[in-house]
Amino acid sequence: MKSIEELTAGILGGYLISEAEALDLLHHAETDALCDAADRVRRHFMGDRLDTCSIMNARSGRCPEDCKWCSQSVHHKTKIDVYPLTDQAEALRHARDNHDKGVGRFSLVTSGRTMTDAQIDRCVEIYRAIAAECERFRGGMLCASMGLLTREQLQRLRDAGVGSYHCNIETAPSYFPKLCSTHTLDEKLRTIGWAREAGMKICSGGIIGMGETAEQRVEMAFALRNIGVASIPVNVLNPIPGTPLENMPPLPDDAILRTFALFRLINPAVYIRFAGGRTLLRPEIQERALRSGVNAAIVGDLLTTIGSGIAQDKEMFARCGFSC
Ligand code: SF4
Repeated sequence: MKSIEELTAGILGGYLISEAEALDLLHHAETDALCDAADRVRRHFMGDRLDTCSIMNARSGRCPEDCKWCSQSVHHKTKIDVYPLTDQAEALRHARDNHDKGVGRFSLVTSGRTMTDAQIDRCVEIYRAIAAECERFRGGMLCASMGLLTREQLQRLRDAGVGSYHCNIETAPSYFPKLCSTHTLDEKLRTIGWAREAGMKICSGGIIGMGETAEQRVEMAFALRNIGVASIPVNVLNPIPGTPLENMPPLPDDAILRTFALFRLINPAVYIRFAGGRTLLRPEIQERALRSGVNAAIVGDLLTTIGSGIAQDKEMFARCGFSC
């Protein structure tokens, strides 16, 4: 097997490492060596600009699906705010607030398996209104995460200015059926394919620390490479009381950093995005992750949990050598 130095030189020259090589790194490379290699690869392919995005939970709770990690499923007994699809004034308020704080992207995120055509109509109007008012969110910087939509619904969102569609594969393909029984990974992949056909970039990642093995995290990174995603949001499980994963032990910091680094070495030229669970990590681990391949982050509040202060985040990104 090649050394980490040889593999890194190869990646910098355009080589895509194999699954066997990634597993060899997983099993034998020192954490610092992995993180430093990922940092070099990130700087080479992606530079020092950090991509920030903000999300609004535009419809919360009452989801018929049974995803084991999720606080919004009707199958679990959780304490979250439950509300129907947002109205335009509320969405505009959120978008303007994030825009004025200098966030790069804005996404509406809805709970539930899918959306009706009437609900998509409402979202189309909302996106048009946001694009009209928020200059920075024009030109493909609006995003959507609305479950398993049809080809036509995805095209309507694209035509309304949505540049990226978010649909997580959530975990390794080999582990997904253990976490969700009401829909399949193939259904998600079909939606992702239609979103791409409609002209949208794909944002897809998942959650680590749900009981999967380290090898399955590598499997997930390769599944995302095969899909051809532009952005990989990596959530660290925040075990929510009342969900089946409420007692899942946290991943060690080392495992989290190694995951970020391997995701970068496997997917050299995409956004590796800090997502949910970031604020559970100590500040020094967050900063080490930003020097281990991460170059994007969700900022502000998350779906059902409090996020981070945008101003403090920007200071941290600057300390780690990023502009945003
Ligand atoms: S489909 Fe989405 S909102 Fe519904 S339970 Fe799964 S992750 Fe939660």
